Amino acid sequence: MIALKNKSELSKMRDAGRISAEALKIGGEAVKPGITTGEIDRIIHKYLKSQNAIPSFLGYGGFPKSACISVNNEVIHGVPGRRVIQDGDIVSIDVGAIYGGFHGDNAATFPAGKISKSAEMLLKETMESLLKAIKAASPGARVGDISWAVQSYVEQFGFGVVRKYVGHGIGREMHESPEVPNFGSPGKGPRLAAGMTLAIEPMINEGGGDVKVLQDGWTVVTTDGSLSAHFENTIAITENGPLILTEV
Ligand code: MG
Repeated sequence: MIALKNKSELSKMRDAGRISAEALKIGGEAVKPGITTGEIDRIIHKYLKSQNAIPSFLGYGGFPKSACISVNNEVIHGVPGRRVIQDGDIVSIDVGAIYGGFHGDNAATFPAGKISKSAEMLLKETMESLLKAIKAASPGARVGDISWAVQSYVEQFGFGVVRKYVGHGIGREMHESPEVPNFGSPGKGPRLAAGMTLAIEPMINEGGGDVKVLQDGWTVVTTDGSLSAHFENTIAITENGPLILTEV
């Protein structure tokens, strides 16, 4: 069952979304050569606490930190720690906040110093695929229209879509129905209706879409070692079309 949110629930989700977006922005501003991923996580954690929000990821399934920070060939679920960011790295930050009983969830990949032209393109087009996916999320459309918007856009650049992990409904729980894959067929899947809230999150690799989990049990990396980018917004589907909730 897909939980629909009423007006007052949506306004709470807007608050949770705004705080999540602010935490992501602050984390992104901290990305530079020389900082550790652990330091970025602490900045994010401190900010969420200052807003009386609960970090969604802290303790989720046993995750030990407030943000997932994934560098270069790491796709998602990177555990912040002593790793020092180098000039030319790309750094994916994924952060969620619980506020007023509802979750916000968002992610972005940030450049550290000067990155390669090809990395720049991966970031730009992954971000663009998210915007195209959001545009497809109107009432009456289907989940497959969102999926196809991502897949059809990024594959023209030869990028690989990660299939093992997908976007999701979100609300009182971080992960609700439906699943929102970044691959699929237009016109297929659950029909979208006003009041649905979704986390749309393309995970796109410069090479193939295959991924594996490292021995730490968390960090997901590309199997071929290629770079990976991740952009995510929480959105609401309204009568007037999609509305981004994770906005500062
Ligand atoms: Mg998510």
